[in-house]
Amino acid sequence: MSDKQFDVVVIGGGPGGYVAAIRAAQLGFNVACIDEWKNAKGGPALGGTCTNIGCIPSKALLQSSEHFEHAGHAFADHGIKVEGLGIDVAKMLARKDNVVKQNNDGIVYLFKKNKVAFFHGRGSFVKASDAGYEIKVAGANEESITGKHIIVATGSNARPLPGAPFDEENILSNDGALRVGAVPKKLALIGSGVIGLEMGSVWRRLGSEVTVLEALPTFLGAVDEQIAKEAKKAFDKQGLKINLGVNVGEVKSGKNGVSIAYTDAKGEAQKLEVDKLIVSIGRIPNTIGLNPESVGLQLDERGAIVVDDECKTSLPNVWAIGDVVRGPMLAHKAEEEGVAVAERIAGQHGHVNFNTIPWVIYTSPEIAWVGQTEQQLKASGRAYKAGTFPFLANGRARALGDTTGMVKFLADAATDEILGVHMVGPMVSELISEAVVAMEFKASAEDIARICHAHPSLSEATKEAALAVDKRTLNF
Ligand SMILES: Cc1cc2nc3c(=O)[nH]c(=O)nc-3n(C[C@H](O)[C@H](O)[C@H](O)COP(=O)(O)OP(=O)(O)OC[C@H]3O[C@@H](n4cnc5c(N)ncnc54)[C@H](O)[C@@H]3O)c2cc1C
Repeated sequence: MSDKQFDVVVIGGGPGGYVAAIRAAQLGFNVACIDEWKNAKGGPALGGTCTNIGCIPSKALLQSSEHFEHAGHAFADHGIKVEGLGIDVAKMLARKDNVVKQNNDGIVYLFKKNKVAFFHGRGSFVKASDAGYEIKVAGANEESITGKHIIVATGSNARPLPGAPFDEENILSNDGALRVGAVPKKLALIGSGVIGLEMGSVWRRLGSEVTVLEALPTFLGAVDEQIAKEAKKAFDKQGLKINLGVNVGEVKSGKNGVSIAYTDAKGEAQKLEVDKLIVSIGRIPNTIGLNPESVGLQLDERGAIVVDDECKTSLPNVWAIGDVVRGPMLAHKAEEEGVAVAERIAGQHGHVNFNTIPWVIYTSPEIAWVGQTEQQLKASGRAYKAGTFPFLANGRARALGDTTGMVKFLADAATDEILGVHMVGPMVSELISEAVVAMEFKASAEDIARICHAHPSLSEATKEAALAVDKRTLNF
């Protein structure tokens, strides 16, 4: 076998691709990973959208802006006086860039540790041969490598608004939204999905007046209705102006910012003038430059690579995972698929349970859920019981000074099996794991209700909501 012949070649080094490469190497394969992302100096920046312009930098900015908001508002309640509070945006962005770099470097270290060969450049299919698939790597040097198995993990890109492309100055994608050099006085968001709400929260906390324009008539339609209503109440109180059922018309970017024409839910024409606009209306699977036609790799009408339940594509020994295929566009879903595919290549029974993938929105309050919503259960006609518990009645939440929200359990009416758990409130991004574990083990609500939870902890709200399914909360 020559140096350029690999058992497994992974195209894309985001959370799906780099994790697939590591798992394949752990299983004894000779593995290469190709990734084209460049840092500011032109060097490699492993970790994909998630690490460079997604999960990680957004959470770094959410943390900084939350500290700022606490210092400006919440500290006073604790008797802490802050005078001369200010924000150094350049320093905040530099900290965020440093957090990103630590993650980039961490993956380089992991590749070395696991002996994954890394190629910096764009990978594209050339042809199928007896040895596998030939892949061209176009980077500083052009080279050709061959893989017996190929795992495509090329991710996704932000969807632009028709007629108003991203200029990353005034009309921002998630990328530009993470690099705004000064707090905009007025900021608009088109799209009230996860990414929009998180980025809007960052800049609102730092002082922007934020207006959200959402085409759908309901707020956070994928979220349990009761939880979405509770979250909207909190966002309204914070001053986030959320307009639902709008129809966006002409969007013009000029010297002084952006003007947005739209029709509101009543059908009345409106105009909004803002300094910056963040467009977050979904993401498009990315196969740019992959040259799938050369080998006949099948894509669907959305441009996603067609795969079956096991991530097998239309071609033998070619697999695809993460944002470039069907399913939720989440980093942990991509990672799970990466591990499962590596194990399937090794002849094992890799497994991804789509029913227990958690969702989190890292606003404040945070929103997190797993399993089915109440509206889904109603639509399917399944008989269920519901139990809720408010953080208002939780001792730790009171001590923290953050009593917004609740935990909600949905369980089968006959068997008590947990069908969904929905949360809005403090640190629910962490609390949701218990519900995921419970559902993975097919636990009943009573199982959680009978488990000892530390006191005082936010997790007691989870136990109490499980007790509420049987109408026997102890503290409410
Ligand atoms: C602002 C924002 C916040 C987010 N927050 C969260 C969150 O909190 N939690 C969460 O779970 N998800 C979050 N996501 C979604 C998450 O980032 C994606 O679901 C995840 O990154 C998908 O992983 P992936 O490996 O499929 O693709 P990606 O992360 O997109 O990685 C693909 C990689 O492949 C490379 N590539 C593409 N084509 C080629 C080629 N031909 N040759 C070589 N390299 C190529 C790209 O440069 C990139 O490095 C967020 C996304 C955004 C935009």
